[in-house]
Amino acid sequence: MSRLAVQPRAAVSSGPQLTVDLAAIGRNTARIAAATTGEVMAVVKADGFGHGAADVARTALAHGATRLGVTCLAEAWALLDAGLVAPILSWLNPVDADFATAAARDVEVAVPSLAHLAGVAAAAGRPRVHLHIDTGMARDGAEPSSWGALCRAARRAEQRGELEVVGVMGHLGCADDPDDACNALGRTRFAWAVDVARGAGLRPRDRHLAATAATLTDPRSHHTMSRIGAGLVGIDPSGTTDLEAAMTLTAPLVQVRRVRAGTAVGYGHAYRTPTATHLGLISLGYADGLPRIASGQAEVLVRGVRHPVVGRISMDQAVVDLGAEGADAGETVTVLGGPGAPSAAEWAAWAGTIEHEIVTGIGARVPRRTRAASYLRAIETGSRA
Ligand SMILES: *Cc1c(COP(=O)(O)O)cnc(C)c1O
Repeated sequence: MSRLAVQPRAAVSSGPQLTVDLAAIGRNTARIAAATTGEVMAVVKADGFGHGAADVARTALAHGATRLGVTCLAEAWALLDAGLVAPILSWLNPVDADFATAAARDVEVAVPSLAHLAGVAAAAGRPRVHLHIDTGMARDGAEPSSWGALCRAARRAEQRGELEVVGVMGHLGCADDPDDACNALGRTRFAWAVDVARGAGLRPRDRHLAATAATLTDPRSHHTMSRIGAGLVGIDPSGTTDLEAAMTLTAPLVQVRRVRAGTAVGYGHAYRTPTATHLGLISLGYADGLPRIASGQAEVLVRGVRHPVVGRISMDQAVVDLGAEGADAGETVTVLGGPGAPSAAEWAAWAGTIEHEIVTGIGARVPRRTRAASYLRAIETGSRA
């Protein structure tokens, strides 16, 4: 018999590891759901903001969310293939996306233009659609000048039995600052868009404008549903609510060496040790989501103490100045998340970006694990019962 046959099959990685705390995601969901009388759509695009789309979806649905939202249809297929059964809305698709399969698999799609409407109306299966108005970002969604025509064309398509308009959606550009005048404009435009849709004879049951920040700060934006992404995983762009981070990134020290003062570290010798010290190596680099631009600023946690990441962060590795005491190869370095360790917000500050980019940027080669796998099993069993 082959030796390979006796290898353990599901060995826990001894290398870098991303651990997701689903219980925290559950508590965040419940907290946000309690802030609105509307429904909560769990937005699990970009692999659930890097936390695992199916796991986040299942957890959110067990804690007050009733719908799922994604950008492209491929993300919707992944949820369906993982066994999720809640209604799914997909926005941001090309005009020739596979809307027939969307209809066949019961996935609702957003329509931001007449060209999209034509693509959806031509698809078999009478797709269910949410008309998407641009409420002031010059980004996704129909321009207000084209909204009336879009609504009338959608109504005609509905009367021909080609599709069914079930919703109207908008999105606020400045909701992270509740005082920004852009929010009032967005709310006004949205209310107008719903009126125009109704005037065209449409009866959109789902009317949704708010994402995490507006849901937490402005009930006037709530309508019948909120689309919540960042908040599920502990990010509150409005900075008003203490949500729980759900991600921990760790890596073992691959190697530790004692070096003299003046030792040059890494590419370009961007750092020289000012004193004799210990340098520890971790096998995480910018390909794994540690922003290279954070070189020279980032810190990590070793033995409960913060230590600087020194030299340039490489593609696959980074070096930690462990100081005079040092540490041993194999000891765990906490790079992100957990008591005392850098938060996503700190990494974001070091990299000149926002938390979203940090948590969605963890590379595919880092093994994922959910804390409380048993917790997830309990949810699964519960939702089947
Ligand atoms: C990502 C996204 C959301 C979720 O926003 P959060 O601020 O992460 O809650 C809602 N709506 C649209 C259109 C989005 O693209």
